[in-house]
Amino acid sequence: MRYRSTRNENEYVSSARAILTGIAPDGGLYIPESIPRLTDEDVAVIMECDYKKTALTVLKKFLTDFTEAELSDMVNAAYASFDTPDVVPLKKLSGEDFVLELWHGPTSAFKDVALQILPYFITVSAKKTGLDKTVHILVATSGDTGKAALEGFSDVAGTKITVFYPADGVSDMQKLQMTTQEGENVRVSGIAGNFDDAQTGVKRIFADAAIAEKLAARGEVLSSANSINWGRLVPQIVYYVHAWAELRKQGAALSDGFNVVVPTGNFGNILAAYYAKMMGTPINMLVCASNRNRVLTDFFATGEYDKNREFFTTESPSMDILISSNLERLLCALADGSAEAVRGFMKSLAETGEYTVTGGMKRRASELFFASCADDAETSASIGKTFAETGYLTDTHTAVGVKVCGDYRAATGDERPCVIASTASPYKFPAAVLGAIGEGAEGDPFALIERLEAKSGMPVPARIAALKDKAIRFPGVCRPGEMAEVVLGQR
Ligand SMILES: *Cc1c(COP(=O)(O)O)cnc(C)c1O
Repeated sequence: MRYRSTRNENEYVSSARAILTGIAPDGGLYIPESIPRLTDEDVAVIMECDYKKTALTVLKKFLTDFTEAELSDMVNAAYASFDTPDVVPLKKLSGEDFVLELWHGPTSAFKDVALQILPYFITVSAKKTGLDKTVHILVATSGDTGKAALEGFSDVAGTKITVFYPADGVSDMQKLQMTTQEGENVRVSGIAGNFDDAQTGVKRIFADAAIAEKLAARGEVLSSANSINWGRLVPQIVYYVHAWAELRKQGAALSDGFNVVVPTGNFGNILAAYYAKMMGTPINMLVCASNRNRVLTDFFATGEYDKNREFFTTESPSMDILISSNLERLLCALADGSAEAVRGFMKSLAETGEYTVTGGMKRRASELFFASCADDAETSASIGKTFAETGYLTDTHTAVGVKVCGDYRAATGDERPCVIASTASPYKFPAAVLGAIGEGAEGDPFALIERLEAKSGMPVPARIAALKDKAIRFPGVCRPGEMAEVVLGQR
């Protein structure tokens, strides 16, 4: 399996090279030359409902320059850190609505599924391509990626990691998770700006030859752990394939397939579901759930992507994004792989902040995707309603998914099973969740999580409770213009 940039259809690289580089030199994103189909033998393995076996089955179709033994070792090591042998438990909410709990890893967000295995992909890829430099991972985070990447790369030999987060755009718990991070090879800095400022700053550093030269002189090469990295996406395909087998095991009515509902920010997680569908998983509709930053809802409705709008800070901060980077991969697929078309859209986005896809692309997109959104009041109501009706507690991101799942059922009358991606533990957002179930939400976050535990009976993840006694190592905040100095260790 070879990989090409969304912006160039003539040059191909290996999976190891694509993962190591992160973003293609032309600014595009790496995509597989074709999407492999699941064979009958693959499906037989998947139906055994053994997450690690399913992971191996999917990964080896995409990462063909890794040996099966290498992949197997990586999968076993990566998912040993999860607090349940199921890795991603599927729970019935009510009727044919299910939640896929993706947050049982060390940082209590779905990003662990990819970021616990990515360091292995990167270090093995470095060996395979003969790279003898320290891989310096650069991350812009809206909250959860940063912590998951820090946890994955902390003290991994041959790597180093710098994380930027919007200083006022993450929850108290998310901030504590990052600023207390242990490890000799980690750096964390707040930035005075929002997530898009952080992401733009990071992209600029990647594109800056002078910075690359300075880093090279000290034996470092930059790479990305953001979901633009193919190594982030491929492990996420696994759980949608696995959900199929779990639904079957739990007796869901699967004759016409199932829908997946994904709380979406950078469009990575839902794109993984799209790849699972294209591999042959019987996914009917891909339901894209946004918060008040509804740029994707509008895009699917009109065919026009327009980031020229007010940016809102919401209670689901990991979805506070106006530039959904991974949409570029979908555009490429909708445009039949045309690099020229993608270059045109991205040029327009960079120059004017908007682009409009062709009528044909829009039609195809709406056959695949349904999109809707929830503002903070609707998100809070969704948490309260689910808890009152089922006793199940969702976080603020998952709650957007639950609300939009209802929108989808109401708009279409579709009764197929729906799998809602549950992307974070409610304990990462205790104030918002307590408020939503009618409890007072004042007090320090640790008092709040105790109240939430007493109220719901759901255990607090041990690594969240343990934050209470950790020292803050990284209190600093820089301006967007100072990010390069942080990366170069001058600040
Ligand atoms: C990152 C994140 C999202 C958005 O996922 P994308 O892949 O960026 O679309 C949603 N919910 C939570 C909790 C997240 O951490």
